[in-house]
Amino acid sequence: MGTSYRRSVAVLPVFVVLAFVVAAGAGRQRSTARTAADLVIIGPVYTLAWNDPAADGTPAATAPRDSAGRWHPDAGAVAVSGGRIAFAGPAEEAAPLTGPRTRTIRLTGNAVVVPGMVDAHVHAFELGASLERVNLVGATTEQEAVERVAERARGTPRAAWIVGWGWDEGAWANRYPDMRLLSERVPNHPVYLRGLHSYAVWGNRLAFERAGITAATPSPAGGEIRKDAAGQPTGILLNAASALLERAVPAPTTDRLKTRLRAALRTLAASGYVTVHEAGADSREMDALRQLDAAGELPIRVYAMLAARDEALLGRWLARGPDRTNERMLVTRSVKAFYDGALGSRGAWLLEDYSDRPGHRGERDRSFHPDRLTAMMKAGFQLSVHAIGDAANREVMDFIRAAAPPAPGRHRIEHAQVMAPADIPRMAALGVIASMQPPHAVEDMPWAEARVAERIKGAYAWRSIRRAGVPLVFSSDLPGSGYDLFYGLNSAVTRRDREGRPAGGWYPEQVVTIDEALRGYSRWAAYAAFREQQTGIIAPDRWADLTVLSLDPFTAPPDALLRGTIVMTIVNGKVVYER
Ligand SMILES: [Zn+2]
Repeated sequence: MGTSYRRSVAVLPVFVVLAFVVAAGAGRQRSTARTAADLVIIGPVYTLAWNDPAADGTPAATAPRDSAGRWHPDAGAVAVSGGRIAFAGPAEEAAPLTGPRTRTIRLTGNAVVVPGMVDAHVHAFELGASLERVNLVGATTEQEAVERVAERARGTPRAAWIVGWGWDEGAWANRYPDMRLLSERVPNHPVYLRGLHSYAVWGNRLAFERAGITAATPSPAGGEIRKDAAGQPTGILLNAASALLERAVPAPTTDRLKTRLRAALRTLAASGYVTVHEAGADSREMDALRQLDAAGELPIRVYAMLAARDEALLGRWLARGPDRTNERMLVTRSVKAFYDGALGSRGAWLLEDYSDRPGHRGERDRSFHPDRLTAMMKAGFQLSVHAIGDAANREVMDFIRAAAPPAPGRHRIEHAQVMAPADIPRMAALGVIASMQPPHAVEDMPWAEARVAERIKGAYAWRSIRRAGVPLVFSSDLPGSGYDLFYGLNSAVTRRDREGRPAGGWYPEQVVTIDEALRGYSRWAAYAAFREQQTGIIAPDRWADLTVLSLDPFTAPPDALLRGTIVMTIVNGKVVYER
């Protein structure tokens, strides 16, 4: 932790203003533009520079609250200069920082400034692809999904692939669709439809023909080709079997990947995010990222995790080592591996049988390669492992304990979704970060309890994680889940869905406070990416990464949070989105 981290925020503005006065006095003949700020925002600011709340959520003594416990902003203005925060403090003290070339923004309505928001687990290429694909999100029946595909087929050249995404394999798991209706309505285009959680795919007859999947094709390890009573493929592939169909779809070119990435990052900038952690980029995706970075075309920062499944990619980065500077828009210092599947499709690896499928405990992911990952950790890479089931979480911790060098590597478990209660303190002892998704709790609640029964007490257990002292970070896992920031915040502080159900919240003892939720999307996300010295709070010399919200999340009633919108997103002092 640096010295500025410890200094109280009340002292900082005075210190900085003095510095400016001294600088101006010493160089009167210099143009004012050299000391004036590039941008000054006048309006309420929550710096998040006060201390973390206690493990039970009680705000720190230094938190900006009145004697009745009501929150209030802790600054009235922010000034930005050269891509850094120059000042945060009372509005009247910002006046000397404005010059002829300063852009001054006066916030109106209930808008407030918060540190730049971070989505710490995203799949930006998939978001970009989903903007191109047939969108099946929200289709409640097989007929509805098939109609959306048929509509697209009418405008697509004959025999070209149609790719769709977003039918809910978790919700439909008890009665999957098949290829019959889809093949009848769309006979002339091969169709590949990926599930919302990426653990099941659905195809038509022509797609299965192109992929060469027949009655004689055996299910691969870790996956299932669903077959009917006569032994014919039904049109559904689960877990590892999905790849049999996916690999028949022509791969996108690097230019196509760059187009998708640009579209995705623009969308995310408009969603208030200044940084995303890309949870697993393969060689070609890393090429696209690096080309856009080199061309100065990344609108927001990307913290990239290398896809562990791509052995050649890991080999190249093992030789090169993790990036050593944070001062780039693209930083690569983490490796993303999978240990198991998802809970909805019953692919998560559990210690005991699924409550709704006796005899079945899920699957370990076959791509988890301990030696390869150990080598990457020893070379200084952070390990970020997808683990959903309680057995997966336990075994990942066993692996990290055995493989990690003594220095804490800030390794991460992505999702940490179902935890045996005894494993939560272990996670704290190992310094492993819990990277969790508030939307998952409210999206999975209709069926999650059926899968694990009483084990649900250790599932999506944000408060238990905080109480144990485990570092926590929040994200959406987009595009599989909703990535609206206000939906994430609302999920975190209420555990209610968009319709406000259930009224009292789902296992409400696990909610976090708004102070914690915002940290999960900013300050704690900075820690998870080794950049807490550069960002996470609004304070002098930090990156000028800011998000302006249409409402004050500290004082808005929880249900009003969902009506919030993004007013402005600022990265490196540049306005990258403005409503
Ligand atoms: Zn993910």
